[in-house]
Amino acid sequence: MGARLRGDRADRAKLYRTCLTMRPLSAQDLLRVWEVGETQHPLDRALTLLAVACPELTWDELAALSVGQRDARLFTIREQASGPRLNGFAECPRCAERLEFDVAVADLRVAADPDEEEEARELVTDGLVLRFRLPNSRDLAALLGCQDPAVARSLLVQRCVLHASRDGTAVAGSELPAKAISRLAKRMAECDPQAEVLLDLRCQACDHAWQALFDIVTFFWAELVAQAKRLLCEVHTLARAYGWHEADILGMSTRRRQFYLDMAT
Ligand SMILES: [Zn+2]
Repeated sequence: MGARLRGDRADRAKLYRTCLTMRPLSAQDLLRVWEVGETQHPLDRALTLLAVACPELTWDELAALSVGQRDARLFTIREQASGPRLNGFAECPRCAERLEFDVAVADLRVAADPDEEEEARELVTDGLVLRFRLPNSRDLAALLGCQDPAVARSLLVQRCVLHASRDGTAVAGSELPAKAISRLAKRMAECDPQAEVLLDLRCQACDHAWQALFDIVTFFWAELVAQAKRLLCEVHTLARAYGWHEADILGMSTRRRQFYLDMAT
């Protein structure tokens, strides 16, 4: 039984590592993701993107990736799709000036993936022994209706506690003291650093410096929507000019499509 378990875990780890080399999105993939994701919640959009780039993993396996593991993969897919730099806008919280930022994907990537073979971790605090796992997409989905951030954090921590005990006696997740929940939330963040990416920004108008949370799901989706609409415009232009089918136009390399577009317009 023990050997069987270890074997399963090794297979699982291998599966996750395989998934680190992701299939680049084709023009057809991009439109399919846009079509499916348009009516989805961002949590599902992220999984829709991953499902196309990591076809060897099931939806359940993708949803079980920690938020940091999920985001590491999204950064890779984004880099394959649109290159190594991210350009965006942020608003200065002091003077409301709109600032452009330009940052390398490499600078936002945390070097190591959280240890994927380590499914359970342990924290000892205030006489409590807490075994826990890292939050994943399912956990975030379970908190969607929760308005109070403190309550949400407490619920998230409780979901991720696999076992809690004091002096060998089991303690229910709902009985954990606030201090332990707070420490565990901090430890979870430390164990999965890619889950929270902060940008160092400075306003050129008022010199205010601050850190802004960078959400790869929102950022990538906004780019993908723009790309999808651009692609459809290109299909429209070429189909009208040459009578070609959508599938043939989308199947062309970007360079070839661009050449015909220049000729047609
Ligand atoms: Zn400012």
